[in-house]
Amino acid sequence: MEIVVGKTAGFCYGVKRAVDGSIEQITNNKNPKIYCLGELVHNKQVVENLEEKGIQFIENINEIQENNSKVIIRAHGVKKDIYEQAEKNNIQVVDYTCPNVLKIHKIAEEYKEKGYYIFLTGTENHPEIIGIISHCGENYTLIKNEQDVEKAIENLEKSNIENLLIISQTTFSTKKFEVIKSIIEEKVPKNIEIVIKNTICLATETRQKETKELSTKVDAMIIIGGKNSSNTKKLFEVALENCENTICIETKNEIDINRYKEINKIGIMAGASTPQSSIDEVIEELNK
Ligand code: SF4
Repeated sequence: MEIVVGKTAGFCYGVKRAVDGSIEQITNNKNPKIYCLGELVHNKQVVENLEEKGIQFIENINEIQENNSKVIIRAHGVKKDIYEQAEKNNIQVVDYTCPNVLKIHKIAEEYKEKGYYIFLTGTENHPEIIGIISHCGENYTLIKNEQDVEKAIENLEKSNIENLLIISQTTFSTKKFEVIKSIIEEKVPKNIEIVIKNTICLATETRQKETKELSTKVDAMIIIGGKNSSNTKKLFEVALENCENTICIETKNEIDINRYKEINKIGIMAGASTPQSSIDEVIEELNK
């Protein structure tokens, strides 16, 4: 059996920066405690490893009681008010929000100030979306899919705002964004001035493209990534469109090896939060 591993499988730049940076923080730590607000990345194995090294994961910044503690901000970013709360409580912020996410925060702030209404495409309740929304002000609508466009345009019309900004979560599907964008352009009243900023991360786009290409050339696909990783789920959907024999797993233990007995060529892709060790374990299992 031939195993083809995607070149873009595994940690993206933003996740690598956050994970390596957090390890460095804990290695050089002289403080009693380093906290991380929410999962640093959407991968159980990575989070457990950091926990073992001494980082304490919390859901609410108010859980930090000690003065001068450090709090790590994950690659997806957090709500705007977290920074104010940290300052108020004398907590040092170690900010690993991915520069691509910070760029969206900046765009949202800029256009909010200019009085634009904002359409944001993305997944409801995703940490990155929660963070971005905190920069959008009152006049925004989250668009999860094509069906939400009509309601979004209704909201825009009710606001009486004539300028519209369209932005996206970094990990949103490029294809879906293009479809939604076209529907909006077609249905929005002609007096509305539209500014479109495609803020989908290049790493996501490249990975999705490679997954699509790879899935047309193999007999089976394995997508590796955290159960709660939105970009991993997207890769699974993309692969499944071309290759019926596609599964999405978190670890090698979920592989039913019998499924691959008759397979000649198998493709492997992994989400942006998947460590190299998880990919290596899957390859080892298949080779066995
Ligand atoms: Fe940053 Fe892109 Fe990675 Fe998200 S997927 S952390 S935006 S590099």
